[in-house]
Amino acid sequence: MRVAIQGTYGSFSEAAARRRWPGLETLPCREAKDVVAAVREGRAEAGCLPIENSLIGSVTTTYDLLEEAFGDGALRLTHEILYPVHHTLMAVPGATLEGIKRVLSHPVALGQCRDWLGTHLPDAELVSAWDTAGSAEIVAQENNLTVAAVAARHAADAHGLVPLVERIEDDPTNQTRFLTFTRSGVELPAGSSGVTRYKTSIIVLIDHKPGMLALTLQAFGVGGVNLMALQSRPERSAPWTYRFYVDVDGAATDPRVAEALEEVEALAAKVVVLGSYEAWVEGSRLSAPPPTPAHHTRKPDIPLVDRRRAPDGSRIQVRHLVFGGESPVLIAGPCSVENETMILETAEAIAKVGGDMLRGGAYKPRTSPYDFQGLGVKGLRYLADARERTGLPVVTEVLSWEEVAVVARFADMLQIGARNMQNFSLLRAASRSGKPILLKRGAGATIEEWLMAAEYILAEGNPNVVLCERGIRTFERATRHTLDLNAVVMVRERTHLPVIVDPSHAAGLRSLVVPLSMGSLAAGASGLIVEVHPDPAHAMSDGEQSLDLPMFADLASRVHPGRDSKARLAVSSWQRDA
Ligand code: PEP
Ligand code: MN
Repeated sequence: MRVAIQGTYGSFSEAAARRRWPGLETLPCREAKDVVAAVREGRAEAGCLPIENSLIGSVTTTYDLLEEAFGDGALRLTHEILYPVHHTLMAVPGATLEGIKRVLSHPVALGQCRDWLGTHLPDAELVSAWDTAGSAEIVAQENNLTVAAVAARHAADAHGLVPLVERIEDDPTNQTRFLTFTRSGVELPAGSSGVTRYKTSIIVLIDHKPGMLALTLQAFGVGGVNLMALQSRPERSAPWTYRFYVDVDGAATDPRVAEALEEVEALAAKVVVLGSYEAWVEGSRLSAPPPTPAHHTRKPDIPLVDRRRAPDGSRIQVRHLVFGGESPVLIAGPCSVENETMILETAEAIAKVGGDMLRGGAYKPRTSPYDFQGLGVKGLRYLADARERTGLPVVTEVLSWEEVAVVARFADMLQIGARNMQNFSLLRAASRSGKPILLKRGAGATIEEWLMAAEYILAEGNPNVVLCERGIRTFERATRHTLDLNAVVMVRERTHLPVIVDPSHAAGLRSLVVPLSMGSLAAGASGLIVEVHPDPAHAMSDGEQSLDLPMFADLASRVHPGRDSKARLAVSSWQRDA
């Protein structure tokens, strides 16, 4: 097989290509565009070009070729190669390090050996050459004992030189990434990497409208496609506009990538798919891909949530806590995080009397757009501080898929609220965060709909779901909602997932919260989530249903009777402090 490379025999491109195809024959070309031409015209089966260096960054000459070279679909990328760049100082036989007065190489190579050259050859003249192997060729032709080249070790053999010193690069982690390509329809010999993973590279041209770049790339995020690199290059014909080069994890035929690409093509002014190619697995940082989307797989005979899959019930761990274990988990905290002091003080009081976990909304789903919407990231930071202070793990609500990443950054468990139970892109994104999920039942959702919402999360690869019954809407107006204890019992028959109860939102009235809590535990709930506020009369949201601290202490002592004495002691010391 003949592979076109930029540079001459002994170049890094040649060595990189040999890493894939040891027996290849090289076709040296002067410039990157000549490599493209050689492949297009069939003078070589494949081309191999450097695209990126781990220290220097993008090889812009290669990037700038891509649209023109690949735009008509005649070529496609086939393989990625990562090649460690070690430099060798080489000269004609008989030369010595002490005798070297002039050093030739590509300026990037000289730059990568700057410290070494400064220390060992401080007086030598450094001369830029067209490429590394080409400088070795010049040194061989000059046949002068005072001239050396910096190039790959094998360039010495290729040009009859001897290595004077090997591995003179300043940073031993230095690597270059190469891409190989061929004509569409040509099959190249399989790579030698063992495990096969694919990447897809595309060029995206975007209309200049506010938000368009983010919206276009978002298509990858929503679908769970890992966007691995984004490079912008100026559009030569239109100053201060750019084209974007995007690398994603996966082949264009993967359902996730295919769906995302369809959206990108719909949004962007132009998309050129350069190809899906075998990624270099060894030493690269490829994360585990998300599972194939459920709608592209066969429906399991038994749903993932079905109790038959785990007849003894699943135990879901959140830090040191276990839902579905022997002891109920008591989650407490304000409806919303209102300010730093209030969440810290409330968390401390909850911890003292035996609460297990802290709740508090930083993003609030409010019925009216004029109401307090939560403190956002500030609220998340305060929650994390409260965890530091008290050791209580934190659960907090995430309202949309866009916020999943930031909420997951701070929370130990993501709450999907009643209003969002069937927000399927949110369910999928929350699943992919890898955090345990607290899935509240929609106020108008049937048990079947609720379990299928949980199925979405499990099918996207995250098994850690805890269900939460929080009251459903009935004709009854005396209470905010109607706590459906039928569902708690029924759900335990139908699913292995633990279920907890939120009596606060179910009742909407604080006086009902303790009795409903006890009833819920009697019905088999694995825990409770209750709203607690240090001054419910002045709460920014849901004050009527929030327990004050003494009421919560009473609840905690009933939920965790074993911790009774410690809890009482803690209440009284808290009251003393106050
Ligand atoms: C909450 O827990 O603060 C909340 C908004 O609950 P729900 O989604 O059950 O209404
Ligand atoms: Mn609330």
